[in-house]
Amino acid sequence: AEAERLTVPLSQPYDILVGGNLLARAGALLAPLLPSRRVVVIADANVASRHGLSLRAGLEEGGLTILAEIVVPPGEATKSFPSYAEVTERVLAAGADRRTTVIALGGGVVGDLAGFVAATTLRGLAFVQVPTTLLAQVDSSVGGKTGINLKSGKNLVGAFHQPKLVLADTATLATLPARELRAGWAEVAKHGLLDGPLWDWCEANGPAAIAGDPAALRHAVLASCKLKGAVVAADEREEAPDGGRALLNLGHTFGHAIEAECGYDGSLLHGEAVAIGLVLAAALSTRLGHAEAGLPARVARHVASVGLRARIVDMPRPFSTERLMARMRSDKKAREGKMRFILLRGPGQAFTSSDVPEDAVESLLRDAG
Ligand code: NAD
Ligand code: ZN
Repeated sequence: AEAERLTVPLSQPYDILVGGNLLARAGALLAPLLPSRRVVVIADANVASRHGLSLRAGLEEGGLTILAEIVVPPGEATKSFPSYAEVTERVLAAGADRRTTVIALGGGVVGDLAGFVAATTLRGLAFVQVPTTLLAQVDSSVGGKTGINLKSGKNLVGAFHQPKLVLADTATLATLPARELRAGWAEVAKHGLLDGPLWDWCEANGPAAIAGDPAALRHAVLASCKLKGAVVAADEREEAPDGGRALLNLGHTFGHAIEAECGYDGSLLHGEAVAIGLVLAAALSTRLGHAEAGLPARVARHVASVGLRARIVDMPRPFSTERLMARMRSDKKAREGKMRFILLRGPGQAFTSSDVPEDAVESLLRDAG
């Protein structure tokens, strides 16, 4: 199938291509957009071994020169200062100059790290994203946020740096572990709930997409990027107080707390926490009288239909309501100690609220788990 093209209408607009065989055409697609023919590819070892050769062939066939392929260890620990420093040294040692392009081949970890290297090396190199996880294709490669973690917290150092192009090759998802694919779906479902029509589509097509149906995956990526692209275009630098990018945190106040309670030890993926967070956000919306009574069950049914756990009690470990409440109070998105929630009046009708009574949240968590 032909690739579909979507323009993200930022101050420097760029395109996202979604299709099934884009690595092979990467050079031809990129060459006209880049400041020179020289590129550096950054990938983690899992992705380099599976897709590195196809990308190399595609880039070279389009006449690009690969100065270096820099391979980093897989995993969140790679989004660190030490690996940032090492990768930057290697980019420069490979002969990069100000007209060299950094290409990120991989999931959100590599995208965030390579993007930050591109944003900062020689005060800014051209950047291209080739996302290979569902999460990266529908979420982290859209919006221009790049960065690394500090010991004191995730994503605390970073920059906005928009890519010249995003190549979302859905064929690369065929090698992604099923668990990672499902976790990425949580962000698709989130975009669905923010969008409305995409939610109905998710309910009808989620299981097929998760089973690997290429057309369903392409649509999920394209529609998700459309939704997120429109949201970030309206709030490029995350400055809107309430609407804007804040809405992308639907399910994340709960999700981040659950994730933090697991200590980022790999027992729970981000998307797995967000899936439960979406159900809880729907339940909170209903309890506060904003959404109709059936919404939480509908969200839970969808989450379960793609193989994600929908309830806190289904989690591999018990959670303390007190600890979750404390996590949510100290969430970096909380304002002046007030927890912030994205609530729903229904699919396609999200809004931000900073005056949810704490006891409503607390009793919801007690009843849920
Ligand atoms: P990830 O990059 O760690 O990838 C998950 C795992 O899948 C890794 O082990 C990786 O090696 C492997 N993998 C990737 N592609 C593969 C493929 N095609 N085949 C086989 N294995 C493959 O994780 P992720 O979920 O993609 O991204 C998570 C990161 O994204 C977090 O650091 C998060 O902070 C960041 N993030 C950033 C933004 C943003 O706006 N910049 C948004 C959301 C998340
Ligand atoms: Zn998320």
